[in-house]
Amino acid sequence: MEVLKNYIDGRWMESHEKATLDVVNPANQEVLARVPFGKKTVSDVNDAVKAATQALGEWRNVPVMRRVQPLYKLKLLLEEHTQEIARLITLECGKSFAESVAEMQRGIENVETACSTPILMQSEFSENIASGIDEFMIRQPLGVCACIAPFNFPGMIPFWFLPYAIACGNSFILKPSEKVPLTMMKVFELIDQLDLPRGLINLVHGGKESVDTLLDHKEVKAISFVGSTAIARYIYQRGAANGKRVQAQGGAKNPVVIMPDADIEMTAKIVADSVYGCAGQRCLAASNIVTVGDSRGVIKEALLEAAKNKTTGFGLDEGIEMGPVITPGSKSRIEDLIAKGVDEGAKLLLDGRKASIRGYETGNFVKPSILENVALDGELIHTEIFGPVMSLLPMDSLDQAIDFVNGNTYGNMACLFTSSGLNARTFRSRANAGNIGINIGVAAPMAQFPFSGWNDSFFGDLHGQGRHAIEFFTQTKVVIERWPKEWTRKF
Ligand code: NAD
Repeated sequence: MEVLKNYIDGRWMESHEKATLDVVNPANQEVLARVPFGKKTVSDVNDAVKAATQALGEWRNVPVMRRVQPLYKLKLLLEEHTQEIARLITLECGKSFAESVAEMQRGIENVETACSTPILMQSEFSENIASGIDEFMIRQPLGVCACIAPFNFPGMIPFWFLPYAIACGNSFILKPSEKVPLTMMKVFELIDQLDLPRGLINLVHGGKESVDTLLDHKEVKAISFVGSTAIARYIYQRGAANGKRVQAQGGAKNPVVIMPDADIEMTAKIVADSVYGCAGQRCLAASNIVTVGDSRGVIKEALLEAAKNKTTGFGLDEGIEMGPVITPGSKSRIEDLIAKGVDEGAKLLLDGRKASIRGYETGNFVKPSILENVALDGELIHTEIFGPVMSLLPMDSLDQAIDFVNGNTYGNMACLFTSSGLNARTFRSRANAGNIGINIGVAAPMAQFPFSGWNDSFFGDLHGQGRHAIEFFTQTKVVIERWPKEWTRKF
């Protein structure tokens, strides 16, 4: 069984750590590889930081037009290898093949957007702020930047940061999730083909020890994190205490409000896709579905129908819409949360527990589930389930629904389904979340927009993607200049 190597200083290197974790196919528990995991990964991270620090001197002085050239090549390589990478995503992460291909597309879009860095990095100039004095601002790289990624989008999330960081003149270290390291191993085989200074982009494996080393290392200037809220908060606090720039995207519990004037058929399909896509393991998965007014009976039936029709199975098999969840532990946690909802007074309309898929009996499958009338004063209503579970909540008015949305401690996404422009305008103005969908079920910002979580879904100031990424990966320098005539030598 292959033990995965790190990619440090432009070479594949064995880890200092001999202990490993299994990388497992969640559809059948097949061991796909072994990933180094333990205390000695600290030495790997130190090697990576050293290489990344050495690469900086050369890279930061390369003109930005030249710094983006390898990204054009990376885009082509990623497109050429999308099917192969998508297959790996499905194997280690579980989502359907179509979802994996779509994920790679969103990653590639970030590489494309980062190719605009020569324009995005341009800055400001004021002539004559006082007589004969000019003032301008330039953007300079930070230094070594690191990214710690979650399991649920192994092919996309590193690209919210990596292409912008290097285009801005930084070097980069990626620590993928230990649950899904294979996708980035393949991507780094492609990165290895680019004409980049050695050590500019590095990959290290591991868990808490690797992450803490990045958080404490004085040469690491910026940390980009995506994962659960508890860890995001920890990363933000420890990184900031060490004087680093930190952006830490956390978990979510996303509400969707359905008004009586919404188109029932279209809404039910879109909302079911949002709840059950990627088996609910999306930070933008709809979870609490608020049905307003007298349409709730019809919409409930339509959602039930849409949920029952989802085909669950191994993501590489033909026609599969929903794969397994990531680990047996996740499966039992989700099943326990369904039971908790019932204990707290909800009615279980659709029970996806004890799912068994022929040929994949050992897989971590949970089928679509629906709870109705989940207690508003219970725990489930605020708990990120991260599985294919919909909670239905009847309410009387848009005002009541917005109050509910704004009682959420998270703030990743809030969506409204309506045919009224006024409802839409009221909702988008008042909803307390960073990504808003109007007749959209997964309000995932395109690469040119920031991925704008709020509240407990984000710790920091600048988000991933687009202009925010350019601002995050540069520091501004303001220059005030005077060239007095009498000081200028005449030739
Ligand atoms: P996680 O927090 O368990 O792990 C994320 C990363 O942190 C991994 O690389 C892991 O190795 C590392 N890590 C785990 N425990 C750590 C510790 N104690 N100290 C230091 N590092 C540690 O998250 P996950 O289960 O991989 O991903 C799912 C979570 O990510 C969900 O909560 C989901 O909502 C969230 N997520 C958020 C966004 C967003 O944009 N807001 C996007 C995707 C996923």
